[in-house]
Amino acid sequence: MIESSAESPPVIKVCKNCKTKLPGNALIKVVKGTIEDLSCCNLGNLLFVPSGDPCITRRSNKYSSQRAIVYKWNSLRKRNERKGVLVAARAFHKAKNECIKDEKSRGDISKKLAIKREVLDQKFIHQFAKKIRCLFPSCPKDREFIISAHACLKYSQRVGRSAFAKDFDREAISLSVRAHIRHEETNYNSHLFGGLTKKEARLKVQGNVEKIFKYWKLKGK
Ligand SMILES: [Zn+2]
Repeated sequence: MIESSAESPPVIKVCKNCKTKLPGNALIKVVKGTIEDLSCCNLGNLLFVPSGDPCITRRSNKYSSQRAIVYKWNSLRKRNERKGVLVAARAFHKAKNECIKDEKSRGDISKKLAIKREVLDQKFIHQFAKKIRCLFPSCPKDREFIISAHACLKYSQRVGRSAFAKDFDREAISLSVRAHIRHEETNYNSHLFGGLTKKEARLKVQGNVEKIFKYWKLKGK
């Protein structure tokens, strides 16, 4: 694979071979600080496919025997950023036609995957709840499902979704249960409402939280 780069801001870019002056936005190949225009490095016949449609990019790459990645220098972030690929025009058109043809079925597949993820999430919530019941046998009826669903809230940054909770880490479960007790079984929320900071409110209810937490852990009351 050949890597090309469109660097900016160029003062004047000149091809080292044919000495052509190139416009600022021209695609160029940069090798150890020297510049070549596309025709001098045998890329002149290729078509630029901007990033953004992974399917077209992937298929264009697949059908093109010759290809190059296009980077642009981001002077603010001081790094090259990928902007697209250069591929044979025929490969691009073949890829585009294929993508148009199976657009619908590809949409159906991603819908199916979304449903599968949803089912997996439900399964995870259920397993998480079972584990909570197991560790806190004296917690009120069905409370484990409320705690679990809350903890597993999709796309949230809550403990239940984090990687360590996926393995039903005891620490993750304890955190979820403590948070639930704090909000549902103590005056924490009204302390917040009354103007205390989270830290102050937490301190106020900490004793009660621990008392209930221990109680929920008791077996066969
Ligand atoms: Zn040249």
